[in-house]
Amino acid sequence: MPFKGSARHGSGSAMRFLRDFDVRVRLMILIATAMLPLIGLIAAGLTVSYSDADVEAKRAMSNQAQLGAARLSGIFEQAEGFLSALRHMSQLNDIQQPACDSLLAGLKASRPQFHTIGVISPDGVIQCHSKGIKGSVFGDRRLTQRAVAARGPQFVVGDFMVGPISGKPTVAVAMRLLPRADGKPAGAVFASLNLSLIEKDIEDIAGANGRSAMIIQPRTSRILVNWPHVTDFGATVGNFPLLGETLRQFEGGTFETHDLLGHPQIYGFQPIDGARTAGLVLAVGVAPESVFATVEWRMRWALAMGAVVLVAALCGAAFLAYWMQLRPIALLSESARRIGAGDFGTRTGMHSWQAPEFRRLGSLLDAAAEALGNAKAAELAVAASERRFRLVADNTADMISCIDPAGLRTLVTGASRSLLGYAPEELIGRSPVEITLPEDREVVEGVVRDIQARRNIRGVRYRVRRRDGTAIWVEISGQPMADDNGFVLSMRDVDERQRMEEELAQTSRQLERLADTDELTHLANRRSFNRHLRQAFERSGESEGDLSLLLIDVDRFKAFNDRYGHPAGDRCLEAIAKAVGGSIRHGDEIGARYGGEEMAVVLPAVPLAEALARGEALRRAVLALRILHEDSEAGVVSISIGVASRRAFGGIATSEDLLQRADQALYEAKSGGRNQVRTRAA
Ligand code: GH3
Ligand code: MG
Ligand code: MG
Repeated sequence: MPFKGSARHGSGSAMRFLRDFDVRVRLMILIATAMLPLIGLIAAGLTVSYSDADVEAKRAMSNQAQLGAARLSGIFEQAEGFLSALRHMSQLNDIQQPACDSLLAGLKASRPQFHTIGVISPDGVIQCHSKGIKGSVFGDRRLTQRAVAARGPQFVVGDFMVGPISGKPTVAVAMRLLPRADGKPAGAVFASLNLSLIEKDIEDIAGANGRSAMIIQPRTSRILVNWPHVTDFGATVGNFPLLGETLRQFEGGTFETHDLLGHPQIYGFQPIDGARTAGLVLAVGVAPESVFATVEWRMRWALAMGAVVLVAALCGAAFLAYWMQLRPIALLSESARRIGAGDFGTRTGMHSWQAPEFRRLGSLLDAAAEALGNAKAAELAVAASERRFRLVADNTADMISCIDPAGLRTLVTGASRSLLGYAPEELIGRSPVEITLPEDREVVEGVVRDIQARRNIRGVRYRVRRRDGTAIWVEISGQPMADDNGFVLSMRDVDERQRMEEELAQTSRQLERLADTDELTHLANRRSFNRHLRQAFERSGESEGDLSLLLIDVDRFKAFNDRYGHPAGDRCLEAIAKAVGGSIRHGDEIGARYGGEEMAVVLPAVPLAEALARGEALRRAVLALRILHEDSEAGVVSISIGVASRRAFGGIATSEDLLQRADQALYEAKSGGRNQVRTRAA
């Protein structure tokens, strides 16, 4: 997924600058970011306010210029009306000087808007004047020409001038007189306007609040009147931008520029129609700072409030960040640290009013701590029980070992040292077969098979080679482990017991032999004979083989004792017994002392004829001993033998039957003359 990785890498590097910011700072950035649109709105509102204020100021200036222009037009119209009335006074052409002068002076007296009023001839010479002056040339020649040249009663406004008679700055207005009765060219009436009075109107029009107003004449680049009075009446201002603008917007408008002193100003301007062709324009100005003062104050107030709100929001964010983010995170971190350090009893102690995410994390951490604590307690309990087990195991003479399914030891207790001379670690990972003596290896291999088949093992004995080379007997018992596939074995030293048991067995065998042996003759005794005969009889019955019995009695033995004494009799019996023992050919045959001086030989699988031959050989052997017996028929000790064979006789059902037949045969041998072998065929 190279795509995903690179995207993550990209955003990671883009956001890397956030790396050093903690939660509190991040939250504050978040709040500040959230407030940005609000600040933008305030800024946009202020901009609109600015432009509204600008538009409003221009509209106000324009309105004021219109109103002012109308008012000023009124002044000119008034003057026009006055001149229009005056020109009809045809006598003004012919009236004599003093009377005319006083007439005009009278008219002037009640009209402060004029400096002077007068009548001029068509060539511009003053005919009559409110101040009584006569004969001088009227100051505004151009006005004279325009007024005289006019066809009808045209109201003409002159240019700015300083009145030659009044010595005051003024603008003269003039109107042609009615045509003369004699047909000569008529003169004109004029009046010079009192600019100081107009200045008062201008002041009125400007109003208060630092506004300005002026009457300008763009054609001549003059400022006729201005308020505040920064230039003299009629001053020429060549590079005043407003002049050009009023020519461009000749029907009036607004314009933002500098005033005569170079301060920024918003002007509204309007032509003064009443001034006719003079092209006068009224301009009313206001300083932008007074227009925007309210807006600027509002802006400052908004900025201050914005800053206060921002600071309050950031402080609130920092405070909330601590209680709602940093503190729970700190609680969780501290809890995690403690759990890491093994303190499982710790709890986060998250407040119930914290965010559910934190509470959930807290309870998860608490649950983890509790689970770890329980696990630890269980582990400690197991460790303690293991220690107890080891203590018991290591202090037991028996060696405990665990065997894995491969037959190798995985655990050995310390008893291995005393038992085998090996340290436990020397035995771990090895097979029990290794230290077994070769002759018992099969036994132990059987044990390993039992282990693998998971069969219980009870008291199996075998010999092992200890580390010092000595061999001892051990006994093992064991059973499969319940919780895994191992096997637990206990091994104990039974060497001493084994030896004692062996000795005991030997002693018991000896005792048994003694119990079965006749003391004098060392032949089997009567008890042993009876057992052997019974067993041989059973065996011959099973194999359907033959079984013969020789019953032997020493001839005239009572007499022997009597003549040679009892000890000699005993020695004689010993010698005969030796001969009987010598006649025995293999382990199945047995010679026994049947009682007193009577003996017997059991011959399994020997038929009658051979038994007779064997008896005969024995008789000869005794005779050959040549033991002197003066009271016997042969002069030496002899024996008589009765022979019985199972297959040669009918009706032999038991060993007793066989014995009885042999006894009968012996009787016949005695009665037949002794020193002979007899049988009694059926
Ligand atoms: P027969 O030829 O008829 O057998 O004559 P016998 O004298 O041998 O008669 P019998 O068998 O009745 O006598 C047995 C004698 O054997 C009696 C006893 O003195 C003697 N005897 C039995 N046991 C012993 C023994 O252990 N030692 C000695 N010295 N004599 C014994
Ligand atoms: Mg006898
Ligand atoms: Mg006898």
